[in-house]
Amino acid sequence: MTDNLSAPLALHLDGAALRANWNWLARQSGKAQCGAAIKANGYGLGAREVLRHLLDAGCRDFFVATWAEAAEVLPDLNGASLSVLHGVRDEDLDFALRTPARPVLNSAEQVARWKRSGGGPCDVMIDTGMNRLGLRADDLAPSLLEGLEIETLCSHLACADEDHALNALQLATFSALTRRVSARRYSLANSAGILLGADFAFDLTRPGLALYGGLPRPAASEHIKQVVRPHAQILQRREIRRGETVGYGATFTADRPIEAAVVNLGYADGYLRAFAGSGAMLKDGLRLPLLGRVSMDLTVVDVTLAPELREGDWLEVEYDLPTASAQSGLSQYELLTGLGRRFERRWIEQ
Ligand SMILES: *Cc1c(COP(=O)(O)O)cnc(C)c1O
Repeated sequence: MTDNLSAPLALHLDGAALRANWNWLARQSGKAQCGAAIKANGYGLGAREVLRHLLDAGCRDFFVATWAEAAEVLPDLNGASLSVLHGVRDEDLDFALRTPARPVLNSAEQVARWKRSGGGPCDVMIDTGMNRLGLRADDLAPSLLEGLEIETLCSHLACADEDHALNALQLATFSALTRRVSARRYSLANSAGILLGADFAFDLTRPGLALYGGLPRPAASEHIKQVVRPHAQILQRREIRRGETVGYGATFTADRPIEAAVVNLGYADGYLRAFAGSGAMLKDGLRLPLLGRVSMDLTVVDVTLAPELREGDWLEVEYDLPTASAQSGLSQYELLTGLGRRFERRWIEQ
């Protein structure tokens, strides 16, 4: 892309809100250090920029999924700690051994690979009931981890955003492990886990979602600030006559004359068809509902109540994550990570 071409859609990213969310989560983490999950390109915001803001806030522990993601942020790491959640494959070893990032070893094969390579400090993931990545807690042979230099022993909660029996069970299993497996630090809680209480914090917490404005549990609603605000430009204003329909499938019929704006945003940008009938755009406190289906690159909104709006004006997309999730049925995670490449990511400092 040529960088002097201005994009007709932008993500306004609030750096102060991001840092404030981290600060609040750090306080909720009590004595534990508070890290940050910046995988999936910082949940879609841009990993390098997220890293820069959180380093400023005082964060020193970061998590990515893969070594390709690690490579992207390593130049800006400034001595902070970086863990690679998916561990280390044969294909990664060469790079992994040359960088200060640590693999989170997830399987006996990964443990053996790291030992054979003489790899140095690492993290280890133990599965305490989620049955996703990690060594099984219940048949962990003491000899398996012998000889490893374990910086952080991790486990991950399956249901921390709900009141589920698995939370207490995973906590008990992990607590028992901390007495059996020696590591410099222990880490269990994601965003929602932090809100389950001090018992879940151990030495290091690993929030992702809540940093970016997601609400992991209702208790955080007054403290977590919206970080991501999509904005899109109006390409055309048009009149729709009574009885006419709008968009693919002619799913909306005007029962009166209305004024519509055709906006440069669509499902190819991550604004999915699930928003039809429930989503809206915002202008100076006015809520402008969607008309008809969302197309690949375009969405139509009702601007009858905003006569001043015209071609070239910008609208904010209603996208505070709990609301947008309720509207669309998409998870707050999907709403963030689905935001496409056509948005210009613009950090706003207030
Ligand atoms: C993604 C992830 C996190 C962050 O989870 P959130 O729910 O976004 O706070 C923490 N730990 C692990 C292992 C993860 O994969």
